[in-house]
Amino acid sequence: MSTASPVTHPRLRETVDGVEKLCTKCDEWWPADREFFFGDPEGVHRLFYCCKACYREQLNPRRLDKSADPQRRAFPTLFGARA
Ligand SMILES: [Zn+2]
Repeated sequence: MSTASPVTHPRLRETVDGVEKLCTKCDEWWPADREFFFGDPEGVHRLFYCCKACYREQLNPRRLDKSADPQRRAFPTLFGARA
């Protein structure tokens, strides 16, 4: 095996602009640096497996539920006012 290039992982690729990493969440290629990925010592290229945008979405997976919350909260209030 002659691996002259350090880019040997299937989720890494070399472009004219530098190394890019594939986010396994959104399936998009992003520059493999700390601007687009959080650092992870055990990750591919020492970066987290998904991009920062996907990571933030992962932290708030209930964002849609929250938007429906005020309506849900209004229901018991209405019911309480009636009773
Ligand atoms: Zn992503």
